[in-house]
Amino acid sequence: MDRRSILKAFSISGFVALGSGSVMRQLLLGEQQKAIVTADPSQIPVAANAPKVPEKLVEIVEEHAAASDYLEVSAPQKLEQQVADLKAEIEAAENDPHVKDYMQKIRYFEGVFEDDFFVSEQEFKLIQSTLKHLGRVQRTIGHGNFNLINFDQMIKYGRNFSQVGEFTKTELDFLEQLFFVDAGKYGFYGEKVLPGLTDKIPSRELVKVPKTGHYLFKGKSLKLYDTLRKDVGEDIFLTSGIRSTVKQMYLFLSKAVQAEGNMSKASRSLAPPGYSYHAVGDFDVGKVGYGYKNFTEDFAQSDVYKRLQDLGYINIRYTNDNRFGVRYEPWHIQVV
Ligand SMILES: [Zn+2]
Repeated sequence: MDRRSILKAFSISGFVALGSGSVMRQLLLGEQQKAIVTADPSQIPVAANAPKVPEKLVEIVEEHAAASDYLEVSAPQKLEQQVADLKAEIEAAENDPHVKDYMQKIRYFEGVFEDDFFVSEQEFKLIQSTLKHLGRVQRTIGHGNFNLINFDQMIKYGRNFSQVGEFTKTELDFLEQLFFVDAGKYGFYGEKVLPGLTDKIPSRELVKVPKTGHYLFKGKSLKLYDTLRKDVGEDIFLTSGIRSTVKQMYLFLSKAVQAEGNMSKASRSLAPPGYSYHAVGDFDVGKVGYGYKNFTEDFAQSDVYKRLQDLGYINIRYTNDNRFGVRYEPWHIQVV
């Protein structure tokens, strides 16, 4: 089974996990009933009112509508059969070792799996030294500014500050390679949101959020954050806002070191450089005084999270059992 079909099978099984067989059946039979009273089957608004229906279901309903024996009494039974077939297909997908394996990986993201991607010993050393080098940039320009700097600025800081030191060709080549690698190689399936290595965060479009050391984009992100603070209370705060590619590189390499060179394990906890929605408007929130727990599933047990949920603000990018290859992140607020 290739990756696409695994994900397709997974999305079908995800749909069933969310809804239920009987909901699906009603949906299909509902369309069927409408169809019976309509003279011309080609005019039936097939599943037009059900945008979340997976392709496969739409296909079946459409195929059914187009069948020549459409108005025969046997049609509902045929549809039942198709629903049963689909259920069997879903069951097979759920029992598929590849899908199971995928689910295991994002649930036990801190585990080590047989097909995880490891860097070589030599590359691991390079990761460690490059990470230290980036750390020197951060210490020199400050945590806040480091959230925003781009690749060219990073190189300049290396040249201009002796306490940072110039980036070597080997380091730069490595960072470039890290940026352009297809993260699918690690088992990360999100989309690339920042395609250029040297892309800049436009400074006129952002604001520094007081007391956090983080920045947000004016407009949607800032508005949502202000609303959250107003509605949830002062207990909620910004734990991570805009992150440039360089900042994401720093965080990703930190994860890679913690994971002892297991890039797959690193990417199960953090989007690789270029793939993070923090570059385009998403942000993380936490509860004041909750410390490191703000970045664990414990956050979902906090009163802040519960208030967020009660007020209907929860629009989480990386849900339980998501399809990006990332662990569940209840603190990550999806904006874009
Ligand atoms: Zn986040």
